[in-house]
Amino acid sequence: MGEFALIEEIRRRCAVARDDVTLGIGDDAALLQPRPGSELAVSTDTLVDGVHFPAGTAAFDIGWKSLAVNLSDLAAMGAEPAWALLALSLPAADADWLSGFCDGFAALARQHGVALVGGDTTRGPLTISVTVHGFVPPGAALRRDGARAGDRILVSGVPGEAAAGLTCLLGSALLHAAGPVDRDYLLERLHRPAPRVALGLALRGIANAAIDVSDGLRQDLGHIAARSGLAAVLVADALPQSDVLLRAGDADQRLRWQLAGGDDYELCIAVPPARVADAQAAAADCGVVLTDIGAFEDGEGVRVVDAAGGDVALPRSGWEHFVA
Ligand code: ADP
Ligand code: MG
Repeated sequence: MGEFALIEEIRRRCAVARDDVTLGIGDDAALLQPRPGSELAVSTDTLVDGVHFPAGTAAFDIGWKSLAVNLSDLAAMGAEPAWALLALSLPAADADWLSGFCDGFAALARQHGVALVGGDTTRGPLTISVTVHGFVPPGAALRRDGARAGDRILVSGVPGEAAAGLTCLLGSALLHAAGPVDRDYLLERLHRPAPRVALGLALRGIANAAIDVSDGLRQDLGHIAARSGLAAVLVADALPQSDVLLRAGDADQRLRWQLAGGDDYELCIAVPPARVADAQAAAADCGVVLTDIGAFEDGEGVRVVDAAGGDVALPRSGWEHFVA
C-alpha cells in the first residue's frame, strides 16, 4: 500500500456526508462553510504509541480514541462537532491495521456526524494527531475561567474507571476482585471513552465553567480553579462510585484512580447552586449522571476533604502513568 492508496482507504472508510463541506479529502485544502453567526471552536490532540496508549492496543480502539479525546475537548466547550483532520504517522503501510483504525474512527465519527475533511499521512513512529472543529453560539462556550465563588463542582459519570481499566491491562495483582465481566467493562472505559458531547451542549447557559477530565480529576479541576482565580474544595466521600469500581479496588486505590488517574473524558463543571437541579435534569436527558462533589471558594488550589471537612491524606501514586 502506497501513500495514496492509504489516503484513498481512509477517505472511503471514514466518509460522513455533511452539507457544509464543499470539498473534502483530495485537494490541496478542504473547503468548508462555517455556520453563519457561530463561533468556531477548534482543538487538536495527539496520541503517541506507548505514551497515550499501551503498545499492542487494538487498531480499532486507537482510531476510536484518537477522535474521542478531541470530541471530548469540544464537549467541554459546549461546541457542536462538525469537521476533523487526521495527521497519521505510520511505521508501515499495514492494510489490516489501517482498516481497524478507520473502523474505530468512523464508528465514532458517524455517531456524532463528524466529517473527516483532510489530513496528512507520513511514515514514522505511530502517532495520531486529530484536529476537530465545532460550532458554538457567540459567547455561549463553556470556558475554564467562568467559575464563581460558591459555585458547586459537578462531575459526570464515574471518574476512575478508565484508570482501573489500565490497571487491569497492566495485569496488576492489586486489582483484587475484578472478574472477567468487570475487566471487560473497565477496559471498554479505557479504550472507548464516550465523549460527553450532548451533555456539553445541554450545559450551555447552565454551567459557568467546564473542563473535560483527561489528566486526572484533581489536576483538571485545578485548571478551572486557576483560570477562574478561585480555590476548589473537593469532597472525597462525595465522589461517585460504581459497583464495578467498588469491586475493583479498596478505598485508597479508588481515590488514587479517581483523583489522579487519567483518560476519564468525563466533564467537570462549575454550576451556581440555584442551577444544580437544572444541570442534573439536563444531564439525565442525556443519560448521564452529574454528581455534586464540592464547591469553589475564594483562594487558590485544590483541597481534598472528607465529609467532615478535614483534609484527606492523598495516597501516594502507585503507577508512573498516574503521577499527578
Ligand atoms: P499535499 O501533498 O498537497 O499536502 P497530500 O498528498 O498530503 O496532499 O494529501 C492529499 C489529500 O488527502 C489532501 O486532501 C489531504 O487533506 C488528504 N489526506 C492526506 N492524509 C490524510 C489522512 N490521514 N486523513 C485524511 N485525509 C488525508
Ligand atoms: Mg499533505
